[in-house]
Amino acid sequence: MRNTGKQEPIPKGTTILESLPFVYCLKSSFRRELCDFCLKANSNLRKCCGCMVVSYCGRVCQREGWKDHKGECKNFVKVKPNVPTDSVRLIARLILKLQRGGDMEAEHVTPVWSRKFKDLLSHRKEIKEDTKRMEYFMTICGVLNEYLSNEILPNSVELLGIYGRMCINSFNILNGEMQAIGTGIYLAPSILDHSCSPNAVATFEGFKLRIQLTQEISKLDWDSIRISYIDLMNSKSHRRKELKDRYYFDCDCPRCKSDDIDRYHYAAKCPSCQNPIIVKKGDQFPPCVCGSKLNSSLTKQFWEASEFNLDVCKLCIAKQDNLFHDLCLIRSKIMDAAFDSAIQLQLWEAAIQYGIPLIQAYKLWYGEEHPLTAILLLKLFKITLLTSSTNDSVALKYYEEAAKIIELTHGRNSSFYRQDVKPLILWILWFDQVEPKDRLNIQLHQHELSSILILQ
Ligand SMILES: [Zn+2]
Ligand SMILES: [Zn+2]
Ligand SMILES: [Zn+2]
Ligand SMILES: [Zn+2]
Repeated sequence: MRNTGKQEPIPKGTTILESLPFVYCLKSSFRRELCDFCLKANSNLRKCCGCMVVSYCGRVCQREGWKDHKGECKNFVKVKPNVPTDSVRLIARLILKLQRGGDMEAEHVTPVWSRKFKDLLSHRKEIKEDTKRMEYFMTICGVLNEYLSNEILPNSVELLGIYGRMCINSFNILNGEMQAIGTGIYLAPSILDHSCSPNAVATFEGFKLRIQLTQEISKLDWDSIRISYIDLMNSKSHRRKELKDRYYFDCDCPRCKSDDIDRYHYAAKCPSCQNPIIVKKGDQFPPCVCGSKLNSSLTKQFWEASEFNLDVCKLCIAKQDNLFHDLCLIRSKIMDAAFDSAIQLQLWEAAIQYGIPLIQAYKLWYGEEHPLTAILLLKLFKITLLTSSTNDSVALKYYEEAAKIIELTHGRNSSFYRQDVKPLILWILWFDQVEPKDRLNIQLHQHELSSILILQ
């Protein structure tokens, strides 16, 4: 960690905190693919012969995982054929860990500042008033009584405190492609507040969490480090509601206070100069900076085509073309959906057409340096190579930009960078040796060769 006394600025890409989870669980939907301990993919997973529910890479991971699995293994057997849900499993792990001395465990943020589980916010009052969460809490209590029937359960007040801390402080554990593969409680990182324009990002190496700076800071002041708790490609009202509902606070971050980004919720493309014409729902379109105006028929078309519907997103995009600005949130979301479905259908040309305008939109909504932007760029890199031999230099640019972002957000030593991102450069070399006309023929073969999920 950096010496906080140093006065030179700390560059983006710096890891300012690394943390191991207090407790964590693999998401049950990944049980067949990933090791329950290290969370890494393994095609040769071996089941725990005690419960036959969880699987490991091998002996080493099973042994390492046993301290957390020991208490639950026999309980898994007891409730068979039922399997506890992920949240029940996580809260049970918390209860068992706290009972075996975990309440005394502390993680240091700085040499003189550490956090214990009881230091995490529980929002007891808000949770008590939250009908949905209380209903869920009651259900969990019922299941716990059966699942942990041989253990001494904390009293209901304590249990609510544990539940509250779990709701408010869990991190989704993400793989390199930003898919949630697990849930974990991390003591030190839970000090980090949210901002819709964060200056840091949480990325993971297995279950180890890293906080990486995505913006340069003048000095390490923990109060000024912000990560995002939510998906940022959403409108201000959507984000603020989500934060209020899930974390019980009103976001007063600079992005929520200003309108610089969120004004792009509805933005038409000027028919004369292509600049955005920004409008609020229900308002008249103002004239463009160039003086042009949208006529009434275009205005009508704009509002018709702004209705988001996945089934008709292609139709929508066609209707929006020439009328919607590419930074407009409504258009970005539809383009995003269309991009994904084009990839699934292996319609590479279409995917490129939807993907390219998304780059700028991602940068606007997620921020300049975000892992999701890098993943978008890597997808475009691959697709560009597949579809055309004349654009290898364009493809390379996508790759280089993506690699730069991943270096910042994950680090050069992360396994995602070393195993998934770096080897991708070999695609250029493979494709170099392929006759242009043969490129599309090898795509499926190459596709299978690639172990990377990026193109599914
Ligand atoms: Zn493992
Ligand atoms: Zn077991
Ligand atoms: Zn905000
Ligand atoms: Zn104009």
